[in-house]
Amino acid sequence: MAIGVLAVQGAAREHLEMLRRLGVEARPVRTAREIEASDALILPGGESTTIGKLMARYGLLEPVRQLAAKGKPLLGTCAGMILMAKEIYAAGKEQPSLGVMDIAVQRNAFGRQIASFEADLEIEGVEGGPLRAVFIRAPVISSVGQEVAVLAAHEGRTVAARQGNMLALAFHPELSDDTRLHAYFLGMR
Ligand code: GLN
Repeated sequence: MAIGVLAVQGAAREHLEMLRRLGVEARPVRTAREIEASDALILPGGESTTIGKLMARYGLLEPVRQLAAKGKPLLGTCAGMILMAKEIYAAGKEQPSLGVMDIAVQRNAFGRQIASFEADLEIEGVEGGPLRAVFIRAPVISSVGQEVAVLAAHEGRTVAARQGNMLALAFHPELSDDTRLHAYFLGMR
């Protein structure tokens, strides 16, 4: 069992550390072959336009779509969530994306003044009380399709959702000290 963390741009290292703390084999992935060899994949935060362009250039979009279609767990955090969405508002010019999850997302939805903040979130399916969530120039999920379950909201706006083997989070669970969301993700295998 090896969990891949896409490492073309953005915050891969903290995800790898979280997974290793949970006792699973985790490795950074940068090629189609490495994606195909992964049993689950995390798309980290960063800059979604940049990550999308690099994925397109290196031929990584289709392998990730196939991984998701096979039912392997896929987690997108922040920019990674944007890449998973079928619809992106305020998308960058020529923003390649995966379009695998039936959600619409709004980039930079909390405005520039409050670019970053932390909040306590109750997350459906995660026991043990609220989780401290770090938001950095975060998107929100502005609408979800019928197959999608909303798992958490902040100020009435959806910030976590799941569709089968796909989990989308507007925030950065790898930046707090709490491994519960990564454990939840591993439980999706
Ligand atoms: N604002 C970034 C984007 O739109 C996402 C920020 C993040 O991943 N922390 O791509």
